[in-house]
Amino acid sequence: MSRSAHVDVVVVGAGFAGIYATHLLRDKNGLSVQGFERGSDVGGTWFWNRYPGARCDAESIVYSYSFDDDIQQEWTWSERWATQPEILRYAGFVADKLGIRESYAFNTEVASMVWDEEAGLWITTTSDGETTTSRFVVTAVGCLSASQVPEFKGLEGFAGEVYHTGSWPHEGVDLAGKRVAVIGTGSSGIQAIPAIAQQAAHVTVLQRTPNYTVPARNRKLGVDEMSLIKRIYPALREKVRETPAGVIVKPPVGAALELPPEEVRAELDRRWEQGGPTFMNAFTDTMSDHAANQITADYVRERIREIVQDPEKAELISPQAYPIGTKRICVDTDYYATYNRENVDLVDVRSTPIERIGARGPVVGGKEYEVDVLVLATGFDAITGPLLRLGVQGRNGLSLNEAWAEGGKSYLGLAVAGFPNLFTVTGPGSPSVLTNMIVSIEQHVDWISDMLLDLENEGIERIEASAEAQEEWIAKVNAIAAQTLYPETASWYMGANIPGKPRVFMPYAGGLDTYREICRQVAAAGYEGFLTSGQVGVEAHEVLATVPAS
Ligand code: NAP
Repeated sequence: MSRSAHVDVVVVGAGFAGIYATHLLRDKNGLSVQGFERGSDVGGTWFWNRYPGARCDAESIVYSYSFDDDIQQEWTWSERWATQPEILRYAGFVADKLGIRESYAFNTEVASMVWDEEAGLWITTTSDGETTTSRFVVTAVGCLSASQVPEFKGLEGFAGEVYHTGSWPHEGVDLAGKRVAVIGTGSSGIQAIPAIAQQAAHVTVLQRTPNYTVPARNRKLGVDEMSLIKRIYPALREKVRETPAGVIVKPPVGAALELPPEEVRAELDRRWEQGGPTFMNAFTDTMSDHAANQITADYVRERIREIVQDPEKAELISPQAYPIGTKRICVDTDYYATYNRENVDLVDVRSTPIERIGARGPVVGGKEYEVDVLVLATGFDAITGPLLRLGVQGRNGLSLNEAWAEGGKSYLGLAVAGFPNLFTVTGPGSPSVLTNMIVSIEQHVDWISDMLLDLENEGIERIEASAEAQEEWIAKVNAIAAQTLYPETASWYMGANIPGKPRVFMPYAGGLDTYREICRQVAAAGYEGFLTSGQVGVEAHEVLATVPAS
């Protein structure tokens, strides 16, 4: 546990982004770092999301750091899709190896971060009232870390236990013999429901929107397989970095609308058997053409009808309302088959919404569903939510909440106009949630670290995204999204799950490979689009051009 009054950099969050940012900025850049983490240990998302069945939907061999060969050689993954406890152990292993914990104050929530223009410093105040000043701030708060609890009437009067999947008790919850209601059928609900159904006496699923999910086909990774992977790790990592989503995917076989129907069918069969989100990558036109999208969606609905014995239930859990993939595709183990169990009931809360939560359970259509435990798998205030709760105030007293009144705006998802020396790892406008987060995190942190080295070398103390560059970038992000089917769906990508949140498509959908290249070019051009303050109005690249190379 550490707490300094003044450092070079404050890092907020000790998930995968915070661990790597702290390591690089402290051990490569040689900067003093103070980390703050509201949890009692490292792990971020994987520290909080301990619900039964929690796993990653990116394969473990690539959902892991690539920056250090010792780490990837020493750590051995046991399953194709790692469980939450294994990923959390991995985060702890890396933190131990790099001595990360000594740079952090844990159980310490950031209450505000205020820019002092005169001093050129950020003043971070934590919930215990203490302050730390720093030249730079790096936010590493994750995209899905602000849990969303809908305003259900009567929730506080419920006599049983209530848990949100995103802040599950660390000591675990004994569900044996209990009656459980689950609200929410996104990725979290879809993973939790089959695992809960195996323990609980009875499960009532309250479903508003059915989701598309593909089988995980999880399996153990053998000793030989892992040693082969370790031998090829450097080449594998290199390849993965240059893919659009930072994962190993079988490339598309062509456009669904141009291939013969039997080839389309055979490819979907192959990918369904193979398991995982690569199913969505079968064709080039799935995410841009309604008719093509329909082919893949129909295929999943057909599989549901095959798996679920009760035709009424099958109909009810078949997604119809939106194109497949425009809400994040889910990856499951036995989700649809769980509805064949006698201890699982499905209640449609689309046609008849949840009225309130009574003392004994949720009330729908006048009926109170009596349960002992209520599980809220109701999602997150995604991407901007975790940043907005930091109480950030930039130049001229501008708060981030004011700057983002019309939605999260930033330049490259890395920096926000009006907020000097503050960098947002996987911020809005970057590929983030459309990719393997660890690959995106490494790219952002590498880029920030290189930028700070360049600034240090040139004696530049302040840097800020220009408002023009930010507007241009956001226009590009929107234009790319408009070429896809994504904006048609009321998803958390669009902020649509949070009442009153501006509806804009938040991530950059142009692919991580393209995005990396853009970031490389911006740096190579002397950080084009950034202003160096002290000389506000002067582009960073103009200043860098006047300094003789060292
Ligand atoms: P989510 O996708 O936002 O799902 C929330 C669910 O709660 C939806 O089914 C939603 O219904 C329902 N809901 C919300 N308010 C409701 C209300 N008032 N009444 C009834 N139902 C309500 O959240 P999530 O499942 O936690 O997943 C969020 C993201 O986290 C995922 O998309 C994924 O990126 C990530 N995640 C990943 C993994 C993994 O790696 N395997 C696992 C879990 C989560 P509507 O759809 O009708 O709004």
